[in-house]
Amino acid sequence: MRGSNAPGYRLRLHPGYGGLAPAWHHRFMNIHRPPRYPHVWRLLLVASQLIVIAIWWRYGWKIGLPAMLASHLPFVWGTLRPQSRLFGPALTRLPTDERQVWLTIDDGPSGDTLALLNLLDGHAAKATFFLVGERAATQPDLVREIARRGHGIGNHSATHPSAWFWALGPRRMREEIAGCQTILQGITGTAPRWFRAVVGMANPFVSAPLRDLGLARAAWNARGFDGVRHDVDGVVARIERDLAPGAIVLLHEGARHGRNVEMVARLLKRMDELGYRAVLPEESQFAPGLEKARG
Ligand SMILES: [Zn+2]
Repeated sequence: MRGSNAPGYRLRLHPGYGGLAPAWHHRFMNIHRPPRYPHVWRLLLVASQLIVIAIWWRYGWKIGLPAMLASHLPFVWGTLRPQSRLFGPALTRLPTDERQVWLTIDDGPSGDTLALLNLLDGHAAKATFFLVGERAATQPDLVREIARRGHGIGNHSATHPSAWFWALGPRRMREEIAGCQTILQGITGTAPRWFRAVVGMANPFVSAPLRDLGLARAAWNARGFDGVRHDVDGVVARIERDLAPGAIVLLHEGARHGRNVEMVARLLKRMDELGYRAVLPEESQFAPGLEKARG
């Protein structure tokens, strides 16, 4: 690795950070990764279609047609699967071996926000609220209250177009992401660093605005379908199955069933019993290997 001269201390050249960034910064950059090559998918698409044409040419449509359909599957998969990294990096867990989890609460601010903040405070827990720009704009006091109490604020699009987010073209996609960023920064004075895709779906046009705005995509690896299911015990039991060191838990607020606050209350109680702490990614204990390298 370039620049690693100091014994026991890893240094890395990092453009934009004055050349050398100390190891803690490197570890930080490790989890917060805005896309670096947002247009790689175009090369992949062109290359795969050239191969399909060659196959079609050589073997005819009976093989060429299935080859074409198969070549589209990775793009469908990359769009529909929340954990897919085809269109750029997505964080699916925190690199820690301690009982720390990242609670992420989508779709606010809402009538639940204040109750959620009080609950979190009562458990000394921290969470990141992935807010919808137009909802934030109508309740800026709630947004400021989230920040004031030390929780994270993430970008969850300007208008939350849940039926069409995956199909948005490059211009609409940029408007959704940049529009939310402008609103949230205008209210809190700080630009969010994390983005949560609407319904977890990405598409090829997500990465370029994320890169330009320095946003990293946060996925999840634990959820109880709390946006649609309304049985509190069932939702929390489902989340509990996936609780593990570094888990990223997907939660919602303001769902129509009106029981999101109860669900978070029950989850926090279970986490206390199981010895799990809710932290922000910036506070978690990162990769133990790098921890040792730091000495
Ligand atoms: Zn959402």
